[in-house]
Amino acid sequence: LQIKEKEYKIVILGAGGVGKSSITLQLVQNKFIEDQYDPTIEDIFKKELFFQNNYYSLNILDTAGQSEYSQLRENYMKLGQGFLFVYSIESRTSFLELLSHYQQLLRAKNFPQEKSEKALNQSIPIVVVGNKSDLDYEREVTYDEGINIAKNFGDFPFLETSAKSNINILKAFEILIKQIDSNVENS
Ligand code: GDP
Ligand code: MG
Repeated sequence: LQIKEKEYKIVILGAGGVGKSSITLQLVQNKFIEDQYDPTIEDIFKKELFFQNNYYSLNILDTAGQSEYSQLRENYMKLGQGFLFVYSIESRTSFLELLSHYQQLLRAKNFPQEKSEKALNQSIPIVVVGNKSDLDYEREVTYDEGINIAKNFGDFPFLETSAKSNINILKAFEILIKQIDSNVENS
């Protein structure tokens, strides 16, 4: 019996402080740390998953400090097969910042900016995530706004997560894996 493992490169994108490192740590090590991680550290984490009768080996790049140049990020944006776009539901600024991350990705993938959204959807597996859903009382972005931005970017799946309460974290990655799987099959 030969076990085939699918190895996928995943990139976590989003504004500083939205919980990119917390989401990654919750997935990889099943823990949450209240303090902010060093916001400048950009690193790759490995996660093995058994899902829908397949073994997956995920290489996850937890990005940081988008403004400074990073060769690692540059490479991962180009070679990355799946992208998690994260904002925080208690920060409208982080929500509005998604667009520039999205445009940055299109540039890295050499997509013309005006290419139709439908075509994009089939080409880049993306899941949009509104994190910190446990902070509902501080909410600045509605659920519908989250759904709509994902739809406008290109019919991408959307879900709200909490790295703190471990809500929908694994699910977000599973949905992304499904997107990557169908993208790989189609190409
Ligand atoms: P990053 O800059 O995007 O990597 O954000 P971090 O993962 O470092 O998180 C920034 C801050 O938000 C830290 O203080 C985290 O503890 C906190 N945080 C992250 N995710 C959540 C969450 O789901 N709920 C709450 N309440 N706080 C969170
Ligand atoms: Mg971080």
